[in-house]
Amino acid sequence: TLDFHPSGRHFLQIPGPSPVPDRILRAMSLPTIDHRGPEFGALGLEVLGKIQKIFKTEQPVVIYPASGTGAWEAALVNTLSMGDKVLMFETGHFATLWDKMARRLGVEPEFLGLPGYDGWRAGVQADMIERRLREDIEHSIKAVCVVHNETSTGVTSDIAAVRGAMDAAGHPALLMVDTISGLACADYQHDAWGVDVTISGSQKGLMLPPGISFNALSAKALQASRTSQLPKSFWAWDEIVAANKTGYWPYTPNTNLLYGLNEALDMILGEGLDNVFLRHQRWGAGVRAAVDAWGLEVQCQDPAVHSPVLTGVVMPEGVDADAVRLLIYKRFDLSLGMGLGKAKGKMFRIGHLGDCNDLTLIAALGGCEAGMKLSGVELKGSGVLAALDYFATHPLRTAN
Ligand code: PLP
Repeated sequence: TLDFHPSGRHFLQIPGPSPVPDRILRAMSLPTIDHRGPEFGALGLEVLGKIQKIFKTEQPVVIYPASGTGAWEAALVNTLSMGDKVLMFETGHFATLWDKMARRLGVEPEFLGLPGYDGWRAGVQADMIERRLREDIEHSIKAVCVVHNETSTGVTSDIAAVRGAMDAAGHPALLMVDTISGLACADYQHDAWGVDVTISGSQKGLMLPPGISFNALSAKALQASRTSQLPKSFWAWDEIVAANKTGYWPYTPNTNLLYGLNEALDMILGEGLDNVFLRHQRWGAGVRAAVDAWGLEVQCQDPAVHSPVLTGVVMPEGVDADAVRLLIYKRFDLSLGMGLGKAKGKMFRIGHLGDCNDLTLIAALGGCEAGMKLSGVELKGSGVLAALDYFATHPLRTAN
């Protein structure tokens, strides 16, 4: 609980769920309609058409009434069979959880990664994937699974490079990519990058509450789903893709979240995806300027792959990041992301995604700065002033 009676707005600066704009909340507050009626079919077709633009695909996008984890499971059970080998890459906590899920489902993942903790401070190394695939002469590896924006660390991965590595190795494995936290914040190109299954969720860049997730498909993924043997029913693409042709689902979809999704898609496409990406890149750079001014380290150590969605702030040796986070929450009504898995207690994460602006981020940085000072963390200078300076001297450009 807070140290004071709450007033004003809570600052939700975790890297998802992100703040839901009022416009979306209002859209979701409309009465629930008959999901088999004509009005719903029109909504379904509209949403299914617009969501393809966000994934940059002309192929089917399946929408599940589930969190992102459900869409992970859907990707695996629709394409693979018991004992199939898959190649995964340890970029952080979410890659680790996907690996664990694959094992639970009876798939055999090989978990590549940089030695020690380094993999949690860098993106996917496409050359390691290429080397491993070249060794797999009998093509026993059925899929390569990577995370585009590792939410536990604030590191992105170059998916085009992973595709390039697979092509260079001449390997026929499917490419599956988790962009649960990257979509509609960082550029993502399902078709151009030759991704077979893209997994995403509603509660990050799409600015919706949790509860919807996605599989964007390819012809090759659909082909694999015809022979894959892992048990599936609720997740099975065939019936959903067939029902979606007329704007319906084989079961009850979450109607009100779809109202929200339709509104979110209008907002994002109205602003223009490239503008949305520029906005996020600029916020990322401003927040990193703050971390630098504090004299602290950003979790991501490769400047080429800093996440535009969130920034991991590493605490000095001996400082418990969770204690700092708790103090900030209690004193300033500000939620920050915790360090997950191997990063627990070592860092906290600042989300800068979706419905933010320069001043909400300045406020969030203000909470961080004051909270760190109160926790006895030695700071070199003011991150708030550095970010203010960055934002003032780097006005938001538009792409067109
Ligand atoms: N993958 C990534 C990269 C995520 O950020 C998350 C959630 O934060 C998940 C998977 C799991 O998604 P969910 O919590 O919606 O089930």
